[in-house]
Order: sequence, then structure tokens, then C-alpha cells
Amino acid sequence: MCHFHLKWVPHDSFRNRYDSLQAGHGKYMIWWKIESYNFVLTVGVCVAPSPLYNRRNGRNSTGAKLHVLQSSFYWLYSGIYVVLDLGFLDNYRLHTKKDEDEKNLVSKADVINGVILQQIIQAVVAILLFTVTGRDEEQTGSKSFLIVEAGQFVTAMLVFDTWQYFMHRLFHHNKFLYKHIHSHHHRLVVPYAFGAMYNHPLEGFFIDTVGGALSFLLSGMSPRVSIFFFCFATIKSVDDHCGLWLPGNPFHIFFTNNTAYHDVHHQLYGTKYNFSQPFFVMWDKILGTHMPYSLEKRAYGGFETRPLKEGKGE
Ligand SMILES: [Zn+2]
Ligand SMILES: [Zn+2]
Repeated sequence: MCHFHLKWVPHDSFRNRYDSLQAGHGKYMIWWKIESYNFVLTVGVCVAPSPLYNRRNGRNSTGAKLHVLQSSFYWLYSGIYVVLDLGFLDNYRLHTKKDEDEKNLVSKADVINGVILQQIIQAVVAILLFTVTGRDEEQTGSKSFLIVEAGQFVTAMLVFDTWQYFMHRLFHHNKFLYKHIHSHHHRLVVPYAFGAMYNHPLEGFFIDTVGGALSFLLSGMSPRVSIFFFCFATIKSVDDHCGLWLPGNPFHIFFTNNTAYHDVHHQLYGTKYNFSQPFFVMWDKILGTHMPYSLEKRAYGGFETRPLKEGKGE
């Protein structure tokens, strides 16, 4: 009579040998010993060949940390706005809820999917960037002065703004780029917080990701400072799209380029103005695309932006 059994058990001696070989490579193995007749086979499955893992120092890479923090801040900060907006902030809205539902040309589910795709692309690029430039290691020996880091932070802001302004304007000016790529972002005529990163993947790559990489490289900032910078830029961008004019919002106090300023750009009358994003308004002012506006109270609660005069435009 034929006897047959197939047993799956960890095979310790084999596992330990290979685990030690894999040490520092960020891989976790699950091992089985397969016994059938007189045949014994040990099988290992690599369950985490994690691209988020820095193989050289055995820690999560800067790109991975950045991805986790940036995405967390994005959903957390915009989540706070979603909760706040559950019915009792109508007096601070720049558009009514009805307008948000009727004027926007994309569903919230599509926006969420689009943003997640965007964040995955950014994560891959960030991990590659930090690895390829060899700047992933923490420089434990050298301590930077706060003033130097602040200078790098401001430099990165200026580089990021400059790249974003010219690319953003190009994506409006060129009919093909607008129709096929940038118009995706403008499906949100009434912006809301978690729509900030809703872009065509190519726009996300060329405007945000390449701009971010240039800011990092040209400012000379350390990976640690860059995490602060990109998280700050993310929160700023979410705030610019929140659609709420809340009293005491520090972004509205310290930045002329804020929720109302960017709201003008999302309106039909404003698409050729206020290209500057996300920090300053200098390029709009220098190149004549700045649209002055007034923020007025709506009859039934809330505010609205109104253009003050015809800008020079393109
Ligand atoms: Zn635009
Ligand atoms: Zn926008």
C-alpha cells in the first residue's frame, strides 16, 4: 500500500544559513520543508524584497520615509478639512456645497485613485533619486547650522516656485498639453483639500516630481531637511485647495499665494492668471499674470473671490 504525506514545516538549519546570507538586504524569508516519500525539499519564499529598504545601511531609505510621511500628511491634513467641513463650515466656504457637486467634472472616487497613483510614482522617483545621487546616507559626522539649512529651505522654495510657474504656464499655453494633461487638474472647478494632488500622471511627474528633484539638488539640502521641505510643500498645496477661508489660518496670514489666490486660477475667469504656486506670487507679478481679486461675503454665507480688473494675460 502506498503511503504519502506532504508536510510543510520550518527547516531551521537551512533557514538560519540563508537568513544570515540575506542579512542587511531587507528580505524576509518564510521557509518550508516539504517531505514526500523519501524526498525532502526546503523552500524559501522571499516575502519582502522591499524597494523601500536601503540595502547599504539596513534602514528604511530617505525616499521611503519621505513617501510615508508625505502621503500621511496629505491624507491626514485633508482628512481634517473633510471632517471640519461636515456641515458646519458653510460660512467659510469659497463655493457652496451645491457648486462643488455640480461644477466639478470628476468624481471623488476618481480623485482618490488619481492621487494614490500620483503618490506611488513620486515614491518610486524619490527612492531612485536619493539612491542614485548617493545622498541617502545620514551624514552623522557633519552638523549643519540652522541658518544654512534655513537658506537651503528658502532656495528650494524659490527653485520649486520657478519651475512650477513656467511649467504650469506652458501647460496652459500649449493647447495639446492643456487638453490632454493639465485639464485633468482643472476638472476641479471647486477645489477641495484632497484634490490638491489630482493631476494627470505626466503632469505630476514633470511639474511636481521633477520640480521637487531640482529643488533638492540645487538647494544642496540634506535628505533630512528635504523631508521637512516636501512635507511642508504638500501641506501648503492641500491648504491652497481646501476651499475654505478659515479665520487665523497661518497660511493665509503669511502667504499672499494662498487658498483664495489659487481659487482664482481654478475659476473660468482666472485660468490665464495666478499660475504661481505653491509659495510666492513673484513670477505672476513680474510677468504680468497676476490677477488682483477681492474676497467678498456671499449673501447666503461664505465668501467668494471676484476679479478686480482685467489682467494683462497672455
Ligand atoms: Zn492650471
Ligand atoms: Zn490647483
